[in-house]
Amino acid sequence: MQAIILSIGDELVLGQTVDTNSAWLSQQLAKIGCPVLAHVTVPDDQKEIERALADASNRCDWLIVSGGLGPTEDDLTRQALVAVLGQPLELHQEWVDQLEKFFRSRGREMPESNRIQAMIPRGAVPIHNSAGTALGIEATLKRSSGSGEGCRVFVVPGVPKEMKRMFESHVLPAMKSAGGGAVILSRTLHTFGLGESHVAEKLGTLMRRDRNPSVGTTVSGGIVSLRLNSRFSSAAEASEQLELTSSACCQALGNLIFGQDEETLQQVVGDLLRGKGSVATAESCTGGLLAKMLTDIPGSSSYFSYGWVTYANEAKHKLLGVSNEILRQHGAVSEPVVRAMAQHAKGQAGAAYALAVSGIAGPDGGSDEKPVGTTWIALAAPDEVTARRFLLTGDREMVRDRAAKMALALLRCKLLGFAAPF
Ligand code: AMP
Ligand code: MG
Repeated sequence: MQAIILSIGDELVLGQTVDTNSAWLSQQLAKIGCPVLAHVTVPDDQKEIERALADASNRCDWLIVSGGLGPTEDDLTRQALVAVLGQPLELHQEWVDQLEKFFRSRGREMPESNRIQAMIPRGAVPIHNSAGTALGIEATLKRSSGSGEGCRVFVVPGVPKEMKRMFESHVLPAMKSAGGGAVILSRTLHTFGLGESHVAEKLGTLMRRDRNPSVGTTVSGGIVSLRLNSRFSSAAEASEQLELTSSACCQALGNLIFGQDEETLQQVVGDLLRGKGSVATAESCTGGLLAKMLTDIPGSSSYFSYGWVTYANEAKHKLLGVSNEILRQHGAVSEPVVRAMAQHAKGQAGAAYALAVSGIAGPDGGSDEKPVGTTWIALAAPDEVTARRFLLTGDREMVRDRAAKMALALLRCKLLGFAAPF
C-alpha cells in the first residue's frame, strides 16, 4: 500500500507558501508504515489538477489531496475531481443547512458562493469539517488499466488546521481499517567534526540503498546527521532492527556521534557539565556566539557564569591580561594568544574549564599564512591547556558558527575523556 500526496495552490508553486501539509502528512503516514512515493505540487489550474489526479491514481493506492476547496474562482480541485471521475457535482443538503446555521449564529447570511463548499461528486463520501466551511471528499479513482480496486482519494482543505483534523478523524481511521500497513520507526544520530563524505565512508555498506533499516545522511549547520528508518510488519521487529542498526552506526562512527533526535551539541555539553564544573568563554571572532549557545539551555546558570567578548587586541589585553608582546609577535589569531585567553578566563572566572576562540571570519583579513577561516581554539581544563588550529570553510556566518560548535565539540571530548575523533 503506497501513497502520493498532492498539494494544490498557486501560492505553493510560486514559493510564497511553504508546503507544510505534505511534510506533516508524510510524518503521519510514516507512523503507520505507509510509504510515500511522491509529493506532487500543482497550481490552481483545473487541467493540471486533473492530470495530477489521473497520473497519481495510476501509481498509488492512497492519494491525499489538499488545497483548492475554497469558495472562490481559483478553487478548482472539486471541479477537477468530477472531471476525472466522470460524475456530476451534487449538493449535500445537510452541510448547506449546517453552513446556514453557522452563518446565522454569527448574525450573517451565508454568501451564495459558499454553497459550492457543500458540493461533492455523485457517489463520493463527504468528510465532515469540524474547523471550517469546506466539506472534504473521499472517492475512488479507477486506474486507466482498469485493474485492481482503484485508488482511494481523500480531498481535504489546504488550511493546515482543517487538513489535520480531517486526516485524523477520517483519513487515518480509513487507512488503518484497510490494514496491510507496516511500522516505520525512525531515529536520527548526530555527528560533528567530519564532512558528510567522510562519515559515509566510515559507514560503508550500512548506507546501501536496499538495506532495511535504511541509513541516510543529511547536513545542516555543519552537523552531519544519520537518518535511520526501520520498516517491518511488526513494531517489535522494527524496534529490534532499529537498535541493531543504531549500534552498528555507533560502532562505525564511535565518539563522532554526539546525540540523537532532538539533542543539540550545546545540550549534550550542558548535561556533561552539570555536576562536573563550570565553563567560561573568551571569544574574539565568534563575538559571543559560543556563550549564546551555552546559555541557550535552560538551567545553564549552573555551569556558566562568565563570558568575555574581546574583539580588539586592547580588550584581550585589558580584560584577559594577554600580553601586548605576544599579541604583537604572533597576532591575535595565534596559538599563544588563545592559550593566554583561555588560561586567564579560567582563572578570573574561577571555572573548571575555559574555551577561547580567535579566528579570521572574513570576508577580509586573510593572508597567505592565515587565510580566511583560520581559527585557533584553546581549552583550559583542570589538568592542561590544549590548543588547535582549524581551517574552517564557508562564509563569515558559517565560519563563526562552526568555530563555536567546534569549541563545544572539543569540550565534549575532554569531558568524556577521549581524544577528538576529527
Ligand atoms: P485552500 O484550501 O486552497 O483555500 O488553502 C487555504 C490556505 O491554506 C492557503 O491560502 C494557504 O495559506 C494554506 N495552504 C494551502 N495548502 C497548503 C500547504 N500544502 N501547506 C501549507 N499551507 C497550505
Ligand atoms: Mg488555494
